[in-house]
Amino acid sequence: MTSILKSNKLQNVCYEIRGPVPERARQMEEEGQRIIKLNIGNLAPFGFDAPEEVVQDVIRNLPNAAGYVDSKGLFQARKAIMHYTQAKNIADVTVDDIYIGNGASELIVMAMQGLLNDGDEVLVPMPDYPLWTAAVSLAGGTPRHYLCDEANEWYPSLDDIRSKITDKTKAIVIINPNNPTGALYPDSLLKDIIQIAREHSLIIYADEIYDKVLYDGAEHTSIASLANDILFVTFNGLSKNYRACGFRSGWMFVSGNKKIAKDYIEGLNILATMRLCANVPAQYAIQTALGGYQSINDLVKPTGRLAKQRDLAYQLLTAIPGVSCVKPRAALYMFPKLDPAIYPISDDQQFILELLQEEKVLLVQGTGFNWQQPDHFRVVFLPNLDDLTDAIARIARFLENYRKR
Ligand code: PLP
Repeated sequence: MTSILKSNKLQNVCYEIRGPVPERARQMEEEGQRIIKLNIGNLAPFGFDAPEEVVQDVIRNLPNAAGYVDSKGLFQARKAIMHYTQAKNIADVTVDDIYIGNGASELIVMAMQGLLNDGDEVLVPMPDYPLWTAAVSLAGGTPRHYLCDEANEWYPSLDDIRSKITDKTKAIVIINPNNPTGALYPDSLLKDIIQIAREHSLIIYADEIYDKVLYDGAEHTSIASLANDILFVTFNGLSKNYRACGFRSGWMFVSGNKKIAKDYIEGLNILATMRLCANVPAQYAIQTALGGYQSINDLVKPTGRLAKQRDLAYQLLTAIPGVSCVKPRAALYMFPKLDPAIYPISDDQQFILELLQEEKVLLVQGTGFNWQQPDHFRVVFLPNLDDLTDAIARIARFLENYRKR
């Protein structure tokens, strides 16, 4: 019998966050070993509960949630999202401009499927949240990675962005606050990116799913609030700000120069209707989440659990010889660098696998985020202070042995 092959469309599609190393971790757990997981931004298993009122709203509305709803989502939920866009100073977003999906992930894939023809190019950050690269590739597009500069707070390099634009470039993706670097972009930088998009007629896709996970009193500006003359598609959801990753509830909205995008918007509508609608019970959570008590603020204030874990992880990691790191100002991640002169790593997936096997700590290698050199890894600082201390001590021990090899 001939073997059954996956589609050619998947040729350049990969997603290492759930790749072979976490699969090995799963096997080790099945064998009874305890793994400390610093590999995935999934809050609930680490005791970060979704707000109680949000959970109760889903439970209360479950009996009403058995039918399909509008393909773009429940009206009351989209109305709440509309108010949120107003609070973020984004002009002229109507209920009709908002699409609710099974997490932002579904909508990211949808937005790329609706836009790209074979060979079209999209500027994607490097490092990136790899779903973006995968979604562009799956849609037949070519991801062109622009550099985020570690020497400059991991901010996007405008020169590099400009150098990667061709006559096939359709759009630029901005992940702000950033996964995996924890960077938060200043307004001046956002305006400079808008200017580039303006000059080259690019759509701006803004992934802002961590826009409330901000430390040190920082504030977040939605890039879509800074211009009306280009098209923006902005993504957000309940997964991170409201610790409800498993609800699979996210949204996107179009704003800015919608007039030039009528055909594209029609395409998005077709794609939204094809899958009928997003999971309905979770849509009932949106209004209460956005309008309710913003308990994330208690977690990110200096004495809050997330802020304390960020501070400890940063302090312990940067104390390891040959490890440097830009301190994250937002989100749940750090992207430390291993000095190649001290740690001559040629295959960072192998490095991460050996760490897992020797020390039972699970990380994701930097190349999993489309970083080109094997000299970074991502740390998720969700485990509690004791587990973080333990995990980073194990990483330090592993690195010390690695140096002696
Ligand atoms: N965008 C970024 C930057 C993320 O880090 C994630 C999840 O980790 C997502 C999107 C996907 O979010 P959702 O759970 O809404 O699908």
